[in-house]
Amino acid sequence: MAGIWRRQAAGESGSGGVWMRAALGGAELRLPGARLVATAPGGIDDARHAPERWLLLADARARVNGEPVVAGVRLLRDRDEIRLAGGEVVWFSSEELARIEPFPGNEPLPCARSCRPITPGAPSVRCPRCGTWHLQTEEYPGWTYAGTCTVCSAPTRLSGDYAWHPGLEDDHVAVAD
Ligand SMILES: [Zn+2]
Repeated sequence: MAGIWRRQAAGESGSGGVWMRAALGGAELRLPGARLVATAPGGIDDARHAPERWLLLADARARVNGEPVVAGVRLLRDRDEIRLAGGEVVWFSSEELARIEPFPGNEPLPCARSCRPITPGAPSVRCPRCGTWHLQTEEYPGWTYAGTCTVCSAPTRLSGDYAWHPGLEDDHVAVAD
C-alpha cells in the first residue's frame, strides 16, 4: 500500500523530527491546499497484481520535486517530494512491504520458486515490486528461500521495515510507522 511520509514534531532548531508514514488506505487523502486521489483500487481482488496509482490535485502554491503542478494535477511517482501550500514538505512512497497472506486467488497458481501449487487460502507472499506470487510454508518457503524474488531483484525480507524513508542519509532522523 502506498503511503505519505510526514515529519512530526520538528525540533526548535528546524531540524530533526520524526518521519511518520501514513498508509494511503482510502480513496482520498486531504492535505493543506491539495488532495491525493486513488485512480486504481489498492485492494487485491484476485491473483493479479493491480498497482496503485495516485493523483495529486493541488493549487498553484504546491510544488512536486520543485516544479509547479501543471493544470493542478499530477500522477505521483515513488519518492516524489511534495511541497504543500504553507511550506510543509511530504513525500509520496509507493513502496509496499512483503507479507504472508492467504492466497486470494480462486484457482491454484504455481509458485514461481518451487512450482508447487498455491491453492486458494494457502500461506503465500506476493512480491511487492513485481507482483509474482510465492508459496510460503515451512516445507516450501518459496519467498524466503533466496535473498531476492524469483523474478525481480526485490529483497525477500519479512521484517516489516521500509527500505526507504525521507532523510535516509541523515543519521539524526528517527523513523516510526
Ligand atoms: Zn518480484
